[in-house]
Amino acid sequence: MTPEWTSAGIGVMGGTFDPIHLAHLVTAEAAVEQFGLEKVVFVPAREPPHKRGQVITPAEHRYNMVELAVRSNDRFEVSRAELDRDGPSYTVDTLEELRASYPSGTRLYFITGADAILEIDTWRHPERLFELCTFIAAERPGLSREAVREGLRELERRYGVSILRVDAPAMGISSTDIRRRARSGRSIRYLVPEAVEEYIRRHGLYRG
Ligand code: NAP
Repeated sequence: MTPEWTSAGIGVMGGTFDPIHLAHLVTAEAAVEQFGLEKVVFVPAREPPHKRGQVITPAEHRYNMVELAVRSNDRFEVSRAELDRDGPSYTVDTLEELRASYPSGTRLYFITGADAILEIDTWRHPERLFELCTFIAAERPGLSREAVREGLRELERRYGVSILRVDAPAMGISSTDIRRRARSGRSIRYLVPEAVEEYIRRHGLYRG
């Protein structure tokens, strides 16, 4: 069957999600609204290429937590694209795969942290990435805003592309901080969805 032309935009929310938290969800929701996206597909990285050698939670746990977190939103879904692929989870491979699974003309918008995007020169095939998708950068309070923006502008000049900025409410939540809190027995309530908090407790994650 020949896929039909469509101008729908699909958000692809890439991350390690160790664990997923409310700022990720708020960012995805803001992107849907701001850019009129049809949906956002969350893609947990099985083996984040730049985190080799670091201890990260097994991918199935991270996937399960994303699944629990997105369940209540009709416009959110989770993909196993990177979980079911061996080797490092290169974003370029994921976007090629997703692109082939949607009708031609579907625009992909890759949403992730601005500081991750600033490292794009170290990713696999950056030029191809910019052909496959439009990047949407999520900023986090605490980062030097002007330095991040100048970095993004420099990438735009160099690659001749536009990088969109999602205007989400500022929430100083990070996965690193959540892991630290959980490890020291502090509360992570209201930082992650209730079902994720329960999952972390039940499986004894982040106990150190
Ligand atoms: P990271 O280095 O752990 O994160 C960098 C920053 O971005 C952190 O502040 C992080 O906050 C934030 N962040 C990460 N994902 C986010 C999201 N979806 N929305 C908002 N903020 C987000 O980056 P990462 O999570 O491992 O990687 C981000 C994505 O880039 C992944 O899909 C990864 O596979 C991809 N990537 C690909 C390559 C490659 O193809 N070679 C290389 C590097 C990264 P939190 O820690 O709170 O999430």
